[in-house]
Amino acid sequence: MTFEELGLEANLLQAITDMGFKEPSEVQEKAIPVLLQEDTDLVALAQTGTGKTAAFGFPMLQKIDVESRTTQGLILSPTRELCLQITNEMKNYGKHLKGLNVTAIYGGASITDQAKQVKKGAQIIVATPGRMKDMISRRLVDISKIEYCVLDEADEMLNMGFFEDIKDILSHTPDDKSTWLFSATMPKEVSIIAKKFMYDPKEITVGNKNESTSTVSHEYYLVNARDRYQALKRLADANPDIFSVVFCRTKRDTQKVAENLIEDGYNAGALHGDLSQNQRDLVMKSFRNKQIQMLVATDVAARGIDVDDITHVINYQLPDEIETYTHRSGRTGRAGKEGISMVIVSKSETRKIKSIERIINKTFEKKEIPSGIAICEVQLMSLANKIHNTEINHEIDPYLDNINEMFVDTSKDELIKKFFSVEFTRFYNYYQKSKDLNVEAQNSSSRDSNRGSSNPNAVRFFINVGKKDGYNWQSLKDFLRDTLSLGQDDLFKVDVMDSFSFFNTDKAHLTKVAEVFTDFKVDGRFVNVEVSEDKGRVRDRGRGRGRDRGGRRSRDGDRQGGERRGRRSDGPRNESRSGDRSGRRSESRSGSGSSSNSGSGRPRRSRRR
Ligand code: AMP
Repeated sequence: MTFEELGLEANLLQAITDMGFKEPSEVQEKAIPVLLQEDTDLVALAQTGTGKTAAFGFPMLQKIDVESRTTQGLILSPTRELCLQITNEMKNYGKHLKGLNVTAIYGGASITDQAKQVKKGAQIIVATPGRMKDMISRRLVDISKIEYCVLDEADEMLNMGFFEDIKDILSHTPDDKSTWLFSATMPKEVSIIAKKFMYDPKEITVGNKNESTSTVSHEYYLVNARDRYQALKRLADANPDIFSVVFCRTKRDTQKVAENLIEDGYNAGALHGDLSQNQRDLVMKSFRNKQIQMLVATDVAARGIDVDDITHVINYQLPDEIETYTHRSGRTGRAGKEGISMVIVSKSETRKIKSIERIINKTFEKKEIPSGIAICEVQLMSLANKIHNTEINHEIDPYLDNINEMFVDTSKDELIKKFFSVEFTRFYNYYQKSKDLNVEAQNSSSRDSNRGSSNPNAVRFFINVGKKDGYNWQSLKDFLRDTLSLGQDDLFKVDVMDSFSFFNTDKAHLTKVAEVFTDFKVDGRFVNVEVSEDKGRVRDRGRGRGRDRGGRRSRDGDRQGGERRGRRSDGPRNESRSGDRSGRRSESRSGSGSSSNSGSGRPRRSRRR
């Protein structure tokens, strides 16, 4: 089918030709004729990347009256980024419509400027719900005469808690308008919206309901939770041309993973809600320019990412909601390209993989984290390929005589070997003694993260709170994580007894733990944390006994023991790391302590710029 056959007018067809769209996408084929011919409500299940903006954009542009200055179309979208993206697309689609004014309304920018734009006669307003509501209450917009209302990414707007705002906004719109709802998934809340605010909507589905984008393959990697970061680095190193979004669950983890990657020499950046709009814009600009290869993001902040050639989505942690996984994986495999969605899981999370498979109707392939040597090979071949394809820069010609002179006695074979060794040795030194991160391959006592296998760098702590204080392992872990400002994976083997508990951290955090829990009180009660002699076997010592034995009595002996243990196993490299407040761990800790990348978690390579 062609765009003409869908019934679009000449000026819109001209814009389509300008943009180079050859044929309509599935959602466009299904939605455009219906929306052009009928004044109907519509529920469309379609993901970002399917061309859904054009599916509602073209009909809206064709139906509105550009000679009028009345606001006739309202598009609600969950985030500022998406709002701007839709506005740009609409302007592009309507660039041959004289007098068209599409205005974006979103938080974090001047409300007065936006009001001015509206006042000029915006036929179409693209808005985020919060700012829209604000402008309505200040009477800076009038949507009482709109004919078309689009709820874009409805599931995400509801996820973000915009239900009340949407309800409020819709109450200012006429009853006889057409409402077009677009959503990647159809959770209960979206059905409720459809039932409550729409009249007998037509339904279209692109692909199967809730099915993930078909060009995306799904993989998972089973590692111990504490190896998650190392696994992430290996996945990046095994894919030298990676251009990815790495999803974390919290803003803090997002920031920390990004910081660690940057310190370790990767082209990475963080995107989350604690950054100012300006910072977020800068990060997105660098990502679009591919100066950032790994964008570490929270789900909310990543909603508006409009980048077509993302090669990998990496789920550093799985999301709480399965629907969120669909959104994440939909960031790759866009515009007909292939994409890979990778999930790094610990054993306790493997059940979630099964649930996701059921919902997205796809099977995950279980893959192994590549070995160090395999990564060296990939890096070497990638370099060879790059050199093979490099265009010669003749600016070097004047220097060639000198260079040739230097290598007059070097054979081609030797020259190649030397040349490649420059790059290869860095990776080789780093990875030569690296351990296998795959859970099955690790020693036989390998357990899930919370019951993890013995780790020579771990320090076990005693803490005088337990079940009686209302903790379970998860809530204690959360408490410790917040109090110590550590990441999800920096605390492991959290065992909660009746009146006391144990937990492990990497010994790099020993000083921090000791400092934070000096004279530390919760609700007026001292909370003691001591280095423990318990090696991580869960023993229920029974009531009453633990607090005194684990706490007071063992204080001196245990702390000394901890330090002694620390000194014995610390190499010079590790010693310097024990003060590393970021909690960054290095693979070579258990390996060679190589010098070529000392102080870094990765062999540094030249940045793109
Ligand atoms: P969307 O799903 O609206 O976020 O669109 C994803 C991307 O596909 C955008 O960059 C659009 O410009 C582009 N696009 C939309 N429709 C088509 C089409 N029929 N052919 C090629 N690209 C398209």
